[in-house]
Amino acid sequence: MSGRTPLIAGNWKMHKTVADAEAFISALLPRIYAADGVDVAICPAFTALAAMVDSTRGSRVQVFAQNAHHAAEGAFTGEVSLPMLGEVDVHGVILGHSERREFFGETDRALALKLPAVLEAGMVPVLCVGETEDERDNGDTERKLRHQVQEGLAKVPEEQLGGVVIAYEPIWAIGTGRVATAEQAQEACGFIRALVAGRSSAAAETVRVLYGGSVKPENAAELLGQADIDGALVGGASLEPESFAAIIAAA
Ligand code: PEP
Repeated sequence: MSGRTPLIAGNWKMHKTVADAEAFISALLPRIYAADGVDVAICPAFTALAAMVDSTRGSRVQVFAQNAHHAAEGAFTGEVSLPMLGEVDVHGVILGHSERREFFGETDRALALKLPAVLEAGMVPVLCVGETEDERDNGDTERKLRHQVQEGLAKVPEEQLGGVVIAYEPIWAIGTGRVATAEQAQEACGFIRALVAGRSSAAAETVRVLYGGSVKPENAAELLGQADIDGALVGGASLEPESFAAIIAAA
């Protein structure tokens, strides 16, 4: 895994009230006290961000949002801006999760504006990419990844590329219990790193590429042991402190 610090990020999606989130973090922190050499992030709903930033202060847990608008302010009903997230000390933002692309019409063009805005705000962007089952069956995985990665990173200045996190999340593996094999995940994550190298070989060395899709305590160690996999974006298994802590331990 070279010199890159692995990142284990828990995407809570539309789960957990503030009270649920507080109970989770009280149970998680003692379980990961001894974990070293791994970055940990939780990604709560907007309503729980400020409470989680407070409750995790001084711990190794960072708090990421699940989306943000690229503009600082404006007539965008229902959206949240980066200055608003910065005000509550959020550390990073998930961008382009397949659920946002599928259910909320998130486009590569919108993501191309969001990536540099998140970096400019001093936060870590986590760009999610991945193919459908049909695309994989038709041999279109690399074409899809190339398109999503190149479009998403298009407006990121070369000197900031290395600070981006890219999560490879095959859509057929998200929430299905059907994890990619370690070989499939490594092949895709290696391909993504090669795409970054096409822009900057130095950035390709530092950019962190995560795998996401039905990561569980039982399969985490094998996935995280692959050369180009620098961590995991975890959905379902991040909702329980026991399973999330076990995945952090595997890293
Ligand atoms: C996700 O939603 O990003 C995800 C990977 O979910 P799960 O771990 O439940 O497949």
